[in-house]
Amino acid sequence: MSDVIQLLPDAIANQIAAGEVVQRPASVVKELIENAIDAGGTLISLVVRDAGKGLIQVVDNGRGMSSTDARMCFERHATSKIRQTEDIYNIHTLGFRGEALASIAAVAQVELTTRRAEDELATRVVVEGSAFKQTEPTTGSVGTNICVKNLFYNIPARRSFLKSNSVEVRHIMDEFYRVVLARPDLGFRFFQSDKPVYDLPAGSLTTRISDLFTNAYATELLACDEETDHVRVTGLVGKPEFHKRTRGEQFFFVNQRYIKSNYLHHAVMSAYEAMLPEGSFPFYTLFLEIDPQHIDVNVHPTKTEIKFSDERTIYAIVRAAVKRSLGTNLVTPVFDEENHFAIFPTVEPPQPEKATTTTIPSRLNQKEYQSLSGVEITKRANLEHWESLYQSGNEKSHFDFPEGSAEENGEMAPPVTLQSAVNRTSDRGEMFLESEQKAASDPPFQVHHTYVAVHVKSGLMLIDQQAAHERILFEQYSLALEKKSAVSQQSLFPQTIQISPADLALLQELDEEIRAMGFVFTVAGNGTLVVQGVPPDVKTGTEQEVLEGIIEQYKSNQERLTLSKRDNMARSIARRMAMKAGQRLNEAEMRALIDRLFGCIQPDYAPDGRKTTYVLELEKIATFFTNT
Ligand code: ADP
Ligand code: MG
Repeated sequence: MSDVIQLLPDAIANQIAAGEVVQRPASVVKELIENAIDAGGTLISLVVRDAGKGLIQVVDNGRGMSSTDARMCFERHATSKIRQTEDIYNIHTLGFRGEALASIAAVAQVELTTRRAEDELATRVVVEGSAFKQTEPTTGSVGTNICVKNLFYNIPARRSFLKSNSVEVRHIMDEFYRVVLARPDLGFRFFQSDKPVYDLPAGSLTTRISDLFTNAYATELLACDEETDHVRVTGLVGKPEFHKRTRGEQFFFVNQRYIKSNYLHHAVMSAYEAMLPEGSFPFYTLFLEIDPQHIDVNVHPTKTEIKFSDERTIYAIVRAAVKRSLGTNLVTPVFDEENHFAIFPTVEPPQPEKATTTTIPSRLNQKEYQSLSGVEITKRANLEHWESLYQSGNEKSHFDFPEGSAEENGEMAPPVTLQSAVNRTSDRGEMFLESEQKAASDPPFQVHHTYVAVHVKSGLMLIDQQAAHERILFEQYSLALEKKSAVSQQSLFPQTIQISPADLALLQELDEEIRAMGFVFTVAGNGTLVVQGVPPDVKTGTEQEVLEGIIEQYKSNQERLTLSKRDNMARSIARRMAMKAGQRLNEAEMRALIDRLFGCIQPDYAPDGRKTTYVLELEKIATFFTNT
């Protein structure tokens, strides 16, 4: 019997390969735009007719191809992007398999016109079902213009499997969104049946998002920027209240390539912990920059999946980055020598004796602060000493600020002024005051002993005193926990408190954290705790109540959330020690509250995502009184 194995003719092999690469018109869109980007195009136009079933055309102003390459590019495994095996592990382009054009040309009628800057004439190549129909010199501008017509014209079965036009257009849109979000630095245009749908000039990510979605998005986003030796995470995440009921506005890019990753999505969701209503999703567009050596994009031909050499680390960094933008984490993750994930503090401990030196809590904040109207940033180091603001006033407090502690050393930084505090938020809604005089002449006032109201340029800012105080205490204690630098107030008469065996066990487990917050205690046996020192904010006589409250809160958080020990501890103490609605405040206290709130890294939200402030715009107020 004779041998039966034969090599498949190219056209058939290409068609089979096309089954993987070209599933639908949207796959063609993706491949062609990626090629245009790889070719260095800065303005890329996409034209689609009949949902891509009739025509998909991509025109770029990139480097073009020689006349030989214009034919070569349709061969299978023909690529200019990798040459040797090692290159696969160091990919900086979107394509590299050299399969796309060969596959597309196997299942459609393709017309390519391309010219390099150094060539006088362009080359026009026509291919149908892998067969070259025409190659000729022609005139044309620098760059590449490729038309893909009648997709699957030669495979009626595949063509009949295409979905309705609206579904196919939806897929095309999805691909388009992914590439244009990945590259806000490039200009894109999209025409559907000759009608312009998008004209997206090159610009910032915020501009791209506004152009693509609506302008309303711009004010709903928080910047994200976190860097470690291995990876940098940048981008924008939606404020918690800007959630959606449906998925679809979550984008991850790794080295500017869109990827799908449930794992990383989970990392982001966990950073929003408890800030989002059940079943809702935040907006995010996050970019990971990572050495290509640490990733493997070779997992799937359509390449939306990716393998990281160290997934858990990436998870932790993404989560930390998002948490920091949301203001629920003040720590930057870094790696130690052995490549283990570790949390390292980036914040210098507050140093009372050098209170006026600038201490910037983190890279992100430095930028944040500087972008916020160039306000002086010397005060954050002084968080613990804000009480001096009130102490120097002549009124006595209604809520408990510590006695002593900070003032002792005499040297105090000038207080954060209301002016500077409110200025800091100026990019969040133009709410700065005209002058300090004005601030002084318009003192804040309390509404129902629950909200602090203060005049700002655009109207009236309302501050939820409880939420604001929670935010302040949360950041203060996060910092203390991180630096183990809490201020403790020695009790003259150590308090003895009783504690249940279960709580005692938990207390011992949390020993380090509780001490880091400023509690000093010894366990005396029989469930007795002798408390010799407490954080300055704890009122004498309430030690037991506060400590028990924190433990209760900690346990309840533990059931509902997955927080780190420190995070939970800072949330618990903030929750328990924050003043409550109904608490009467004097002017100095209100000012101190405002100043401290705007000295926070994330003044907009309480740790659980409740909003702390609301600006009632003058214009809005005016509408209450206009005739309709
Ligand atoms: P890959 O992108 O994986 O290399 P393709 O089949 O998509 O494979 O493209 C094959 C080759 O054709 C590319 O490597 C590139 O050299 C060339 N090419 C494709 N599209 C363009 C374009 N728009 N401009 C310039 N060269 C291109
Ligand atoms: Mg390609």
